Amino acid sequence: MDLKKPLDAKDTKKAPKKSLEELAVEKGLVTPEQLQELVQKVLKERKNLEQLLIEAGVPEEKVTAALAESLGYEFLDITTTTMQSDLMKIIKPAYAKHLKVLPLKFQEPVLTVAMVEPRDLMALDEITRFCKDARFTVKTVKVVVTTQAKLFAGIDKFYWLAKDKGKDKENLGLGTLLDTVAETMRMEVEMAELAQEEATENSQPIVLLANRIVEEAVGRRASDIHLEPSLYNLRVRYRVDGDLAEVMRVPKYAQDAIITRFKIMADLRIDEKRVPQDGRVDFTKYNSSFEIDLRVSTVPTPFGEDVVMRILDKSGNVLTLDMLGFNDHCMKLYREAIQVPYGILLHVGPTGSGKSTALFAALKTLDTPDVKIVTAEDPVETTLGGQIIQSSVNPATNYTFAKALKAFMRHDPDIILIGEIRDIETAKSAVEASLTGHMVFSTLHTNDAVGTVTRLIEMGVETYLIADSLVLVCAQRLARRICSKCKESYEATKEEEELSKGDIKAGTILYRGKGCEACDGSGERGRTGIYEVLLIGKEFRNLLIKGAQTDELRRAAIQSGMMTLRQEAIDKALKGVISLNQVLENTLAEST
Ligand SMILES: [Zn+2]
Repeated sequence: MDLKKPLDAKDTKKAPKKSLEELAVEKGLVTPEQLQELVQKVLKERKNLEQLLIEAGVPEEKVTAALAESLGYEFLDITTTTMQSDLMKIIKPAYAKHLKVLPLKFQEPVLTVAMVEPRDLMALDEITRFCKDARFTVKTVKVVVTTQAKLFAGIDKFYWLAKDKGKDKENLGLGTLLDTVAETMRMEVEMAELAQEEATENSQPIVLLANRIVEEAVGRRASDIHLEPSLYNLRVRYRVDGDLAEVMRVPKYAQDAIITRFKIMADLRIDEKRVPQDGRVDFTKYNSSFEIDLRVSTVPTPFGEDVVMRILDKSGNVLTLDMLGFNDHCMKLYREAIQVPYGILLHVGPTGSGKSTALFAALKTLDTPDVKIVTAEDPVETTLGGQIIQSSVNPATNYTFAKALKAFMRHDPDIILIGEIRDIETAKSAVEASLTGHMVFSTLHTNDAVGTVTRLIEMGVETYLIADSLVLVCAQRLARRICSKCKESYEATKEEEELSKGDIKAGTILYRGKGCEACDGSGERGRTGIYEVLLIGKEFRNLLIKGAQTDELRRAAIQSGMMTLRQEAIDKALKGVISLNQVLENTLAEST
């Protein structure tokens, strides 16, 4: 490689005045003492000073600006400038990123080049050669220095803006809106305005894009929207049926505008980007056909604020008991259990197993004008409507589940829902409430139904109190349903027999989804519950009082007809509701 030409770069280079060491102290990036330490490290760790300054926590932008000044170059945030379009043919964006060099402007005979490391003569030579090959008569190279993040963001922006856009402007799809956002911002950039500041509440396309991100999420039955900044762009993902899937990437330069837009909607402080914030959006204000709220939370990351929005249905359209996926036997037991006048009914399972959904369905069934139902939740996310009175506990102000229960006793309720039994105090209050004539619904973080009984004993609740109060325990999991549009049957293989520890024999007819448009090729659509319903009958109660161990209790439960989670899951696989894969993912084989 010819190394002579880049020396032309000197032509427009200002004479260096101060060293990086001097500038770092002068600009207050470090104290003279800190500098001394760093200089010693330069020798010891064989790193250059700018690297060490960044590692010590000085912002990259400040270090790069000081470095540029010490070397006699201009420092520039290139995302606020433009790139001459005929230079784009010279170098592909990926290669520009690889070299960390971008030609910005050619005004005969001066080529202006943005660089992260102006001392990289090889890269400078390469780009100059490309220009000359493309018949630009470059005589002088002017180098401007920028940070790597800014260079990459600039490359994304310039090349992306230049892409052909002949799309149907009437169709307000996410892609089109992104294009519109880009056009608006390009105009603003060309008017030498700062794109990020301008595109907040006044910029129509950003507002439309933000709304569309939410509407699209609801359309795809998403439960959460994730906005995740990276070095190169802002990734948008939806959580659908428990799994995250990427839906688009917003270019880096539009990141702040879109995040700011959501922060405005959620009434958060837009100038505060360094601490986590929480807020709520009444989305009906922005689109009256959507009866949803968004619970918004932000967390600062090195690349910007990470935003997660939980979609909350406020239409009162909770699922009914019939929609939960109970089999006939369990449904009958469950319906009988919720009708008893007092006692405790527990739903148990890991986070995200649908415990609240099931409890809400039960409460809706029981909500008639002659009963009073109260709830204590952490916090209230779904409005149940009807006559149900919902309240949020707030552990931060010491308003706990146990305190809520005590307060409820003075409100004369018939049915009480306690979000979760986490401690002995809540457990004891729940028992007390049930024994004084109330029906108490709650949840617990245990794996299976019988294990829940043992867990309560371990927590310190007296065995006879559990025997007296507990009516039913329902352990549950959420499994993904096979897509009904592309379901096919097949014979289980020998390998699957082994995987299922013999629960499914080779040759058994099973089902799976081939993947189609309706399920985005996944073969699965929607979810169903898998349930293990333990009704506390007389026999079980007697065993419990006698102090029987978990194993004995489990055997008795199964003998009296309890279907375990595993059995229920296999049953659903044989019926073609879920795939074997979902059986294995959600339940463990039972060693009997
Ligand atoms: Zn399908």
